[in-house]
Amino acid sequence: MNHRVTYLLGPEHIELREEPVPLPREGELLVRIRAAITCGTDVKVFRRGGHPRMLQVPTPFGHEFAGTVEESGPGVTGYEPGDRVVVANSAPCGRCAYCEAGRENLCRDLQYLNGAFADYIRIPERFVRTSTHRFDGDLPYEVAALLEPLACVVHGVDACKLGDGAEALVYGAGPIGLLLTAVLAAGGHRVAVADPNPQRLEVARVLGARETVEVSRGSGEAGRLRTYSRDGDGFDCAIDATGVPEVWQDAVSCVRPGGVVNFFGGCPPATRISLDTALVHYNELTLKGAYHHRPATVSQALDMLSRKTLDPRPLLSAEVPLENLENALRSMMAKEVLKVVVRP
Ligand SMILES: [Zn+2]
Ligand SMILES: [Zn+2]
Repeated sequence: MNHRVTYLLGPEHIELREEPVPLPREGELLVRIRAAITCGTDVKVFRRGGHPRMLQVPTPFGHEFAGTVEESGPGVTGYEPGDRVVVANSAPCGRCAYCEAGRENLCRDLQYLNGAFADYIRIPERFVRTSTHRFDGDLPYEVAALLEPLACVVHGVDACKLGDGAEALVYGAGPIGLLLTAVLAAGGHRVAVADPNPQRLEVARVLGARETVEVSRGSGEAGRLRTYSRDGDGFDCAIDATGVPEVWQDAVSCVRPGGVVNFFGGCPPATRISLDTALVHYNELTLKGAYHHRPATVSQALDMLSRKTLDPRPLLSAEVPLENLENALRSMMAKEVLKVVVRP
């Protein structure tokens, strides 16, 4: 039997190919994909034609998905055909010093899973062991498929170590900035969001932002943004979800003494920022990088989705059949949509 798989072949070049449905080998699962979701990373790899850590062309791609177990390989127990599962897009080794310290996102042998834009996907053994989660029937597939970005965001918020009812400023109201907003608001924090796009700020309000600020693209507005904090002295925490170096720099000027700056958005390779050393020193700022997710934050994120602690559905702007994936990626590039549900 054949199925359809989307291949990334080069910059802005994808192709839907027919190939035999893979057979699950020892320790593996075959999953029928019911919903996949487009992500900013997909847009980046589509534009660049690959990713230095995750993808070398030609390759199947797409990494946010949920589906049903079609078949278990030899030696796999505990799964029945029809079980609803979501699989995180990475699997740590479980043996290195980072894994042992509970910092699996820094694992020296982190493996990535790609190939969500297809009818079926074979789940490798390590992913079956560490990254596959069953979920209940009342959680829609397209919401379960948001597990990966939500787990990253939970990891990022966790890294800020906020006190109760903290004041946070989120830069960027793209999908990640909006998820950060939803998680912070659900945690009882007071969130302000800055973005140039008024429609996206509208969604931020729906997801729980108390304040939204329309800013020009780029930077230079730290002084104005600081005035949106309760006493004008700055935020307890500023989180960048833009990946723009100038914004990273701005974020440092937006927090109060003792505040935390979380550099969540990855900037283009080889970029640098400069720091006001006196500000960092005398105000005892904490500057924190955050990358990816850990098994603990994946479990936490699934729990939040299952318990409906937050409703991420405003992020899903549209739905397309698998054959229209390219249109979905292009409308993401044009910032006409946040995330798109892709149905096989
Ligand atoms: Zn993603
Ligand atoms: Zn490891």
